[in-house]
Order: sequence, then C-alpha cells, then structure tokens
Amino acid sequence: MTQYTKSNHSDTARSLAQAVRQFVDTHIIPAEAELVKAGEASPLSNQLNLMAREAGLWGLFYPLSHGGKIASLEDYLLVAEQEGRTEFSHAIFSTHSALDAQMLVNFGTEALQQQFLQPLVKGLAVSAYGMTEPDHGGSFPSLISTSAQLINGQWTINGRKWFVCNTDRATFVTVLARTGAPDVPIHQALSMIIVPTNTAGFKVERQLSLLGRHLGQGEMSFTNVQVPESYLLGDCGAGIALMGQRLNTGRLLRAMNWVGLAQRCCELMGARIHSERGVSSRFLDKQLIRQHLVTAHHAISSARELIRLAARGVDAGYPNDVDINIAKMAASQAICTASDSAMQLYGAEGLSELTPIEGIYRIARTSRILDGSDEALINSVGRKLMDYYQDGGYYHFD
Ligand SMILES: Cc1cc2nc3c(=O)[nH]c(=O)nc-3n(C[C@H](O)[C@H](O)[C@H](O)COP(=O)(O)OP(=O)(O)OC[C@H]3O[C@@H](n4cnc5c(N)ncnc54)[C@H](O)[C@@H]3O)c2cc1C
Repeated sequence: MTQYTKSNHSDTARSLAQAVRQFVDTHIIPAEAELVKAGEASPLSNQLNLMAREAGLWGLFYPLSHGGKIASLEDYLLVAEQEGRTEFSHAIFSTHSALDAQMLVNFGTEALQQQFLQPLVKGLAVSAYGMTEPDHGGSFPSLISTSAQLINGQWTINGRKWFVCNTDRATFVTVLARTGAPDVPIHQALSMIIVPTNTAGFKVERQLSLLGRHLGQGEMSFTNVQVPESYLLGDCGAGIALMGQRLNTGRLLRAMNWVGLAQRCCELMGARIHSERGVSSRFLDKQLIRQHLVTAHHAISSARELIRLAARGVDAGYPNDVDINIAKMAASQAICTASDSAMQLYGAEGLSELTPIEGIYRIARTSRILDGSDEALINSVGRKLMDYYQDGGYYHFD
C-alpha cells in the first residue's frame, strides 16, 4: 500500500529530518537552559556540535561536493525546520555557514576554496558576513562606506561593521566594501572581500546583546587591513549582485528555521493544554485557547507553503524576489504569532527563564528586522507588484 504524504520530499530528506528531530529532542532541548547561560561559543555548545558531526547530522546543506547531504533548497525545508526547533541550531548544526560555503563554491577561486572552504566544511573555521554599518541604515546598501582600495596587489580595507553574527568566534569575515569611486553606479561600486580575522588591523570592538542576551552579534573594525587581491569573491564591483544572491537563499534558510521554532511553540502550547495545570484550568474546553493554536497553525502552514514555493524557484534557477520576500515575512509572522500565543498560555511562567519561550520570543522579534526589515521588504515587494499591474497587466500566481 502506498503511503499518503502531503509533499514530495525525497526519502533522504525525510529520514534526515527524523534523525535531526530525535537529536534535538534527546540532546539539545534538555541542555537548552544550560546553553542559555553558557552561550553559543561555550564548551557545551562545541560538544553538541561534535556529537551532531559524529551522528552525520552536521552541515547537511553544505554543497554535496563538500560533505552536504541535500542539494535542493525545497527538500532542505523538512530538515531545516527540525534543526530550527531549537534556537541553538546554528552553532550546533552549522546551518548558516552553509550560506558561506555555497558562496565560496559559486564565486571563490580554487585557491580561495582551498584556504577558506575546506577548513569551513571540516569544522575547523567559522565564517561571518560583514555588511551592516553603524553610521547608516543597513536597509540602504548604497550608503556603505567601508572602503577597499587596491594598491600593489593588496586590498587595503577601512571601516566598521556591526551586528555581525559569529563575531565572538569567526576565523574569517566576508566584507561588503566600496571598491568603486563615489561616482560609480552602486551596481558596480561594491565588492565582497574575504578577511581572516587574524589579519593586522582587524579588531572585534565589542559584543552586542539583543533584548538582554548575547546571541553572538558584535561590532568589528578594519584599520588599514591588508589582504591579497585574490581574496576577492566573484568579480570586482559585483558586490550588490552577490549580496542579492546571498540574501535570496539566506532569507529562506532563516525562514525555515523560524517555522521550526513556531512549531516548537505549538508543541509547548499543546503540552500546557494537556498538562495537569492546563486540565485543571479546563483549557481543553475554552474556545479562546483553541484560537491560539489554530491561528498559529494557520500561520505556520501558510508560511511553509510559501517557503516551499519560493525555494522551488531558487532550485530551478529562477529565484523570484516577490515569492522569497513574502515567504520571509510569512515565516516571521508565524514565529511572532506562535511565540506570543505560547507566552500568553504559560502566563507569568512564559515570561520567565523557566521555559524556552522567552528565547524564542526574542528570536521572533529579531525576525522583523534581520535580513530586511518588514518595511523595506513591503516597500520592495509592493513596488514590484505595482509594476506587474501596470497597463492592465496582472501577476501570474501559477
Ligand atoms: C539577529 C541579527 C543578526 C544579524 N546578523 C548580521 C550579520 O551577520 N551581518 C550583518 O552585516 N548584519 C547583520 N544584522 C544586521 C541586519 O542586517 C540589519 O539590522 C538590517 O539589515 C536592518 O538594518 P538596520 O538595523 O541598520 O536598520 P535600518 O536600515 O536603520 O532600518 C531601521 C528601520 O527603518 C525603517 N525602514 C527601513 N527601510 C524602510 C523603508 N524602505 N520604508 C519604510 N521604513 C523603512 C524600518 O522601520 C526599519 O526597521 C543582524 C541583525 C540581527 C537583528
């Protein structure tokens, strides 16, 4: 008898998703309270990272040529949402460094791949991406002022970046810097350059906490940092195009993790409803409690399908900005709705450190700013939609 499944994911993705779920439930969730205190760069986090590696569950979205096990972004949804059920997934499963690995495979020379990609996929290096700057809005890359000048075969880099992930442990940073003169159009003015963090002139200025907790973001400065000309990723001046490609996949990877965390909130709500406390409060009989669950479920199911659609476009080589940005916003909405409802159902306990909900709620709030603020994305999607409807035209939903 054929088994009915709602989607066409590969057997590999299904079995990996199941294995990741089991790993998260068995090893990470019981350690979450400890991880909150110890942090992502702690021995405990490193130990769990090692265990994930030994279990064959680490770096699953690295390129297949470099140890990854899933090539399709759509297929990866099943695994990424299971990884995402814990807020510590990035450090333990190296989910987001897959993005740097993909960038190096697609745009790095053989030599760059040897030097930076090989150690990354072996777990011997940690990557970071420096785009946002303290002096102007990160939503406006045209204002980037970190500069890179090519003199005698060396890039000399000056500037500052902040809120960069992994600042506490990165071994190299891909920096988005201005390589063109002020009058060069923005689409030819920026470039991506790799900087090892042990280069003279590179400095971690400070770690920055978000809503009261350190999540690995920090500020870094570049003072006459010199790296060889060959550390350029892709073509000189192609930084904006590379940034766009990175954001397309990056937004969807994060969105997948967020729907995973949103699902965890539903599980937490379910646990509360069926707990002794929930039963004595007669939660099962209360329509307003049901509404919390239904609204969260609705948001999650919708976001998953939007992510699936957008990921399919990326896999096919036709990334669609409208689909990707709508999916990112839907995932953000799902985690915001689900974490808020979970917090409400748990009462005062939900606001405290006694449950994982406060951590998830914190991540939910960052989702409306990170990788493009709500307003920036609405602005961009809205403009594109208006173009579709110009001169009696329409948007092809199919
Ligand atoms: C958890 C987290 C991780 C991050 N990781 C990294 C990283 O690894 N590397 C990195 O470089 N950066 C990182 N960032 C920074 C992130 O990329 C920026 O926060 C984001 O791009 C927004 O830029 P900004 O914070 O400078 O806000 P701004 O651009 O100053 O925007 C502030 C506000 O202005 C308004 N606004 C902006 N654009 C519009 C518009 N078009 N219409 C109307 N209103 C608008 C919105 O209300 C917006 O929230 C991270 C941020 C967070 C929260």
